[in-house]
Amino acid sequence: MSLYSLLQRRFIKFIKKVMHWKFVCSCLLLGILSHGCAFTSHTLTKNPQTIISSQKILFIKPVPSTILNKPLKSNSDDLVWYDNPSTVQRRPLIAGNWKLNPKTLTEATTLLKLLSSHFLNHYASNSPDTPEVAIFPPYPFLTTAIHILDGTGIKVGAQNIGLQTEGAYTGEVSASMIRSLGCDYVMLGHSERRCLFGESDKTINQKVQLALDEPGLDVILCVGETEEEYENNLLSSVVSLQIKKGLMGVPVEELHRIVIAYEPVWAIGTGKVATPDQAQLAHVSVRESLSEVYGSDDSKKVRIQYGGSVKPDSIERLMTMPDVDGALVGGASLTADSFTRIVDGAAVSPFNYQPPKEFTARECVATKNVLGESPIWSVRDQTLYWISAPEEEVWSWNLNDAPYRRLFGTTIGCVVLKQGEHGSVVIGGERALLATNMSPQTNDFAVGASILCERPEQAEATRPNDGRVDRQGRFVFGMYNNYHRAGVSVGENNAGIYRLNSNLEVEQILDYKYRVSNCICFPKEGNIMYFCDTPTRKVYAFDYNDTGPLTNRRLVYTMPADLPGGPDGAQVDADGLLWIALSGAGRVVRVNPNTGAVDMVVHLPVRSPTSVTFGGKDLDELFITTRGPDGGGLYRLKMPFGIVGLPEPEFIVNQNSNTNFILQQQRDLASMYQRDGN
Ligand code: PEP
Repeated sequence: MSLYSLLQRRFIKFIKKVMHWKFVCSCLLLGILSHGCAFTSHTLTKNPQTIISSQKILFIKPVPSTILNKPLKSNSDDLVWYDNPSTVQRRPLIAGNWKLNPKTLTEATTLLKLLSSHFLNHYASNSPDTPEVAIFPPYPFLTTAIHILDGTGIKVGAQNIGLQTEGAYTGEVSASMIRSLGCDYVMLGHSERRCLFGESDKTINQKVQLALDEPGLDVILCVGETEEEYENNLLSSVVSLQIKKGLMGVPVEELHRIVIAYEPVWAIGTGKVATPDQAQLAHVSVRESLSEVYGSDDSKKVRIQYGGSVKPDSIERLMTMPDVDGALVGGASLTADSFTRIVDGAAVSPFNYQPPKEFTARECVATKNVLGESPIWSVRDQTLYWISAPEEEVWSWNLNDAPYRRLFGTTIGCVVLKQGEHGSVVIGGERALLATNMSPQTNDFAVGASILCERPEQAEATRPNDGRVDRQGRFVFGMYNNYHRAGVSVGENNAGIYRLNSNLEVEQILDYKYRVSNCICFPKEGNIMYFCDTPTRKVYAFDYNDTGPLTNRRLVYTMPADLPGGPDGAQVDADGLLWIALSGAGRVVRVNPNTGAVDMVVHLPVRSPTSVTFGGKDLDELFITTRGPDGGGLYRLKMPFGIVGLPEPEFIVNQNSNTNFILQQQRDLASMYQRDGN
């Protein structure tokens, strides 16, 4: 055995002894305190956000440590300290550590473009309720990252810096270099640097000093214990030493530039995420170490991230802990979707949570649609219409006879009602908006659908997608980037929202572009429009003005981080509540658009509901379209509690004005279609 490891063992033995006595004393103290608690009027609660009465309160541990694959011993089995969270509000920071990934600039660019599309128009705010976001790509991708993420609000940081400022140090990178590129952060003391590259606390401290010499460059200092240290109750002492040595000489005035990432080594890249209470205990210990150096008030302002196998399904519970101020994410930051979901899960959420009422819908038509969509109920026809997009078909069902379908020879994004005789509808075809008739009496298929107008964005790889008629009788539809996941336009926001008016003129009504239109629907007053760009998983309300663009965007719902998929079609009920199909998550939720609260969940036995509407003679049934591979049928649920929908409006064509223009346009399009052989 080497002298070094002998000394190391002796040191660990010594620490264990000290910890033993510390533990005995703590137990005595905790005993006294908990005894004291029994006689006070503090409410013991699982929800730390409701703790407002004292600086520090002792709680019964709320959740057993069950998440770990191999449960680790907790430092104290039944008790968790919560710091009073009401004193300081800390904005969460979600950081993505890309490590030595991805392999090429091309792959990095794809990931950055997807992130940019997710975040543009959705996160750039500085509100304390939305998390700050930073990514840490390898050095060669920093400039590209800063360039592509410009305007998204995502900050960029470096994973390391060298110990020198300039000169003959081949292969090194200095703090001033990364700052001059536009980096806002540098990450120091990551366990991989400590273990694989032998970085000591002293080296890390020198780097911290060098970073702080660069105005505008903040530091994420990583600390954390190994599994062996954890098992031996050494968490507090290990972390305390790392913090005190790492921050040696950092004055209190600079403390606001430091973020601590508590990353237990046993959790990094292992899939063993710490339980929320394990993380909370450790973070309290980190804060105590800071407090010993900087005092209690200043230490309370420091953000402490948790890192180690954080995934979309673990972030929300971690974030309920009062001392968990965000996350440092490794593996899950390499996919734009999972990283974005983790950011969503870290957003401040309302804590007056009531469990929703749950129901299950039954299949009523086993259509096996590849992509069923856009259900609408016609009060005039007492019939439900819906489409299957790639199969180019519109379906019709009067709830009594067998359903039937018609083929249109074009990919279809949506179907809406059209004022006129029984069966009049408009369909959003890939190349044009088409008027047609779905009545069972119509059998002259040689005539086919008539072209109302060309679709917008002729030069883009988009097609019409979700759409509905507004309460004034105009057809509002959004577009879909055909390649939003891959290919030439990967990640590009190139789709818009348009309104077709009664003169068959199309106007663009959203002042930004996005990827996949969904959720378009209107309450009965017609003064609000809901919309979601599905990859962002956020549903917005806009003021819907009689003329001009959509204004006053506000967030009404973010899909919970632990659910897969994205919001798809939506409908408003007679009470103004929003029913959203969560495709991929096998459910439809009812959301109060004023509070974001979900009070009803309709489960489906298939993964991907695509849209919803109300129908039936009393408008008291919910119809849900679904898609393959496991779905594809039409589902139905009789509504409880007197819930009813609104009659679906019909698209109105102005017969008197502009007739010549319309006819000319139709002739032009018809000849164009003939020319192209369509
Ligand atoms: C990390 O490397 O900082 C990290 C937390 O990795 P992972 O999330 O993959 O465990």
